[in-house]
Amino acid sequence: MNTATLVAELRALLDERGLLTEVADMAPYAHDWRGLFSGTPLCVALPRSTEEVSAVVRACAAAGCALVPYGGNTGLSGGATPDGSGRQVVLSLSRMAAIRKIDVFGETIELEAGCVLQTAQEAAAEHGLLLPVTLAAEGSARIGGVVSTNAGGTNVLRYGMTRSRVLGLEVVTADGQIVDGMRQLRKDNAGYDWKQWFIGTEGTLGIVTRAVLQLAPMPRYRVTALLAVPATAAALNVLRAARQAIGDTLTAFELMSGAALELVARHQQLRLPMGDSSWFVLLEASSSLAGLRDAVEAFLGEVLERGEVSDAVVAESERQEAELWALRESITEAESKEGPSIKHDVSVPISQIPAFLMAADSAVVREFPGTRVNAFGHAGDGNIHYNLLVPPGTDSSAVNALVHDVVVAHGGSISAEHGVGQYRVGELLRCKSPAEIALAQRIKKALDPRNLLNPGKVLPIQ
Ligand SMILES: Cc1cc2nc3c(=O)[nH]c(=O)nc-3n(C[C@H](O)[C@H](O)[C@H](O)COP(=O)(O)OP(=O)(O)OC[C@H]3O[C@@H](n4cnc5c(N)ncnc54)[C@H](O)[C@@H]3O)c2cc1C
Repeated sequence: MNTATLVAELRALLDERGLLTEVADMAPYAHDWRGLFSGTPLCVALPRSTEEVSAVVRACAAAGCALVPYGGNTGLSGGATPDGSGRQVVLSLSRMAAIRKIDVFGETIELEAGCVLQTAQEAAAEHGLLLPVTLAAEGSARIGGVVSTNAGGTNVLRYGMTRSRVLGLEVVTADGQIVDGMRQLRKDNAGYDWKQWFIGTEGTLGIVTRAVLQLAPMPRYRVTALLAVPATAAALNVLRAARQAIGDTLTAFELMSGAALELVARHQQLRLPMGDSSWFVLLEASSSLAGLRDAVEAFLGEVLERGEVSDAVVAESERQEAELWALRESITEAESKEGPSIKHDVSVPISQIPAFLMAADSAVVREFPGTRVNAFGHAGDGNIHYNLLVPPGTDSSAVNALVHDVVVAHGGSISAEHGVGQYRVGELLRCKSPAEIALAQRIKKALDPRNLLNPGKVLPIQ
């Protein structure tokens, strides 16, 4: 079937707002959030129901045309961007955004894949419940994208990644079949837990159309503190002490280098509430039990006395909390104002963070003189954003290979939370064992034998 026939068929399947074919209308779907990747969609399908998704998938399969699922387009790996062939259909779930049900006893939310993450968070909050996947892009990211990327964020230390929130899923497979697994069960060992195949696989195995997510009680108290620490090893001691003193109330533990906050002070005009230090930790604890602040302050007194923390500021108001978080959340923007950078979203076992940083810093400075390191991240779960401000003309592939080799040598992952998309396919092939790649390819072949779902993403085109 030629592409014009497919477009006519899709137009007949969908309502008058359900198909975009004009270049201007399709422009937002032709490139990724950062403008690193661009492509040419054949058309953009905007179905209103799972049945319409299924019909679109069947029509594309019959025509042999590939589909690119599209959520809020905030992914940082080019996963939702089509290729340049002009033969790929972008499938946006934005018109399937309903919140179907909130169960206050089971603490669950049932929603369609096009629902914006922040809308779901706000709906849960109205019932005193927390949807604890939180990201700077939550005002745009959609549940289907969040599930398909297994998104992380700042609360993973306490609540886990998106995967640990997904109780039920409905998906449409590559042949257009609808598979309804919208169960609300915490315990379900009846056979394969097939929903895991569709979480974090970036739309390469199926289209997520609905989900049931586990919520948590909304904590009533929150304490936020900024700590100056002399070294990353001291930061780990503070993390351990915090876990022992305040346990699961520790919600976020963000590590930031002094260099990162110097960029923030210079470019964002945000003032540090204490003097310079090599490293800083932004810590947040939350609980519904009174006495949290006393517990945090007692623990801070101990680490200050031991010299593991050289200075500490505890926020006294919501405004001060926001000011402390603004320091952390402004790092990326400050970095982009400083100049071009090469970014790495990596993870290592928590105990390896100091050794990884030391080894990576010395390798980078040795091999690429003039490079400046801007390291920060969710240290409480081992995730470091290892960004490098490089001199003009630096070969980014060579830098990536060097950093990723150090990551692998420390037992880490070359993508902690941003996925693979089209950005890291080559590096994934290099850094994972042939047996792991072969296993993934067998799963892909079984679920999408004609490679019609997001080809070229995560795994190379076969
Ligand atoms: C400022 C900023 C901050 C961010 N912070 C974080 C962070 O802290 N932690 C983190 O993990 N990520 C972060 N991200 C990355 C991004 O927000 C997440 O990956 C998010 O989950 C992507 O959701 P989306 O709806 O925008 O997906 P998209 O970008 O639209 O798509 C992402 C991938 O999922 C696939 N997909 C989308 N919808 C579906 C569906 N319904 N079915 C099957 N496949 C689908 C796409 O094909 C693509 O491969 C950040 C991004 C930005 C811009």
